[in-house]
Amino acid sequence: MSITYVSTRDSSAKVSASQAVLKGLSDDGGLFVPTVIPKFEKSFDEFAKMDYRETAYEVMRLLLDDYTEDELKKCINAAYDEKFDIPEITRLKEADGAYYLELFHGDTIAFKDMALSILPHLMITAARKNNEPRDIVILTATSGDTGKAALSGFAGVDGTRIVVFYPKHGVSPIQEKQMVTQRGDNTRVVGILGNFDEAQTGVKKMFTDKELEKAASSKGFMFSSANSINIGRLVPQTVYYVYAYSRLVRDGVIKAGDPVNIDVPTGNFGNILAAYYAMNMGLPVNKLICASNENKVLFDFFKTGIYDRNREFVVTSSPSMDILISSNLERLIYHICGDNQEKNSALMKDLREKGKYEITDDMRKKLDIFYGNYCNEKETADAIRELRDRTGYVIDTHTAVAAGGYNKYRNETKDKTPTIIASTASPFKFTRSVMTAIKSSYDSMGDFELVDELSKLSGVKVPKAIEDIRNAVVLHDNVCESEKMEEEVRGFLELDK
Ligand SMILES: *Cc1c(COP(=O)(O)O)cnc(C)c1O
Repeated sequence: MSITYVSTRDSSAKVSASQAVLKGLSDDGGLFVPTVIPKFEKSFDEFAKMDYRETAYEVMRLLLDDYTEDELKKCINAAYDEKFDIPEITRLKEADGAYYLELFHGDTIAFKDMALSILPHLMITAARKNNEPRDIVILTATSGDTGKAALSGFAGVDGTRIVVFYPKHGVSPIQEKQMVTQRGDNTRVVGILGNFDEAQTGVKKMFTDKELEKAASSKGFMFSSANSINIGRLVPQTVYYVYAYSRLVRDGVIKAGDPVNIDVPTGNFGNILAAYYAMNMGLPVNKLICASNENKVLFDFFKTGIYDRNREFVVTSSPSMDILISSNLERLIYHICGDNQEKNSALMKDLREKGKYEITDDMRKKLDIFYGNYCNEKETADAIRELRDRTGYVIDTHTAVAAGGYNKYRNETKDKTPTIIASTASPFKFTRSVMTAIKSSYDSMGDFELVDELSKLSGVKVPKAIEDIRNAVVLHDNVCESEKMEEEVRGFLELDK
């Protein structure tokens, strides 16, 4: 039996897994979701004996079931190789009674690499399978980390081009330098004079713009997305939760079948949604802890059942989570209203037109598995400093939001269930915020001086991703208003020539 993917907004928009990967977003603006969620076919004792690639195959084949064994294994082998600086690809680090799942050992030292190192391979394979002759143009909005990870994945890949839009004044200095030094003729990086939500809205608009699609198609291009709205990102993200769980089984921390908590620093709701899917596939979960920064729309949503984006956008030290419209939440909403396109569409229309929506009591009951909380800027900095003082382990600002959230959860509930915290970025990616959290006087030092100081302080070698940009030349200096994004794309693809 093969799995059908359907749009969250139109029940007639049905595609296979590979078609969903290729398209990214449905024509109606909805997100693709599987009509059934398959169950794991291996036990956790069996998973405990598998390495990362074997786990990836076992998990991904269930959701990407129209890829052949050979196709999927080739994609996995091309993605999870020496690009990662540890052979295990990811690992758990125990600190202060929690298990930090280090998802930042890839090319660009953020968890986005876990999915974006495989997405280009999944997409090219999908194009071939579906006899798609056009070149794929990836349009991406980034809050900082997706951009570089997507550029790195797609740069130089034949048959693809990629345009990345980032908020010019809303990313860390290292994030920006990583992006604007990107090499590859098929890449374009544009800073927009707006925030991430505006970048994301602009990109989504281009995806549903029929005229733009026609102009691009006549020049031999089709658009797709590398954002977490693409199931080609969501599916690879389910893998590391299974891998982490089975490491705990292997190491005797838990027995197969025992529940764990999974705590995720959340922005666009992609990473935690992958944990939710893993749970529905059979991963034993007690609580999914959704940690937000001061842009705490999700915290308020879990508390009140009202999603309300009408509020001030706050620029924080965890910029990859500075988001007021969490796109992937739409998938959860769709599921909790009974896989119902009409009900979901009505709520999304409210979000578009009024900036808010309210779910029913019945729907709220289905959110019991989630525990929402948040950390303000001071609590985030405290979490970094306290963990380092107590254990010597240094975490980044995003992970710190989750760590601080976990401390609150533990104090409030006294729950002793083993907890996996998704560690989503290397502290070297957010050096200034991390170092000034430890000691405010570090603020007087330069960016790369701080990098060296962090290396000394943590006993961790400076990652290659940082060494690479130390002296790299800036190759992209395009800046535009958020209303002018389409012109940038037209220019890059020479659609009007
Ligand atoms: C993208 C990102 C997040 C948020 O993940 P979502 O899937 O958007 O919820 C958290 N931390 C870091 C470092 C990120 O890059």
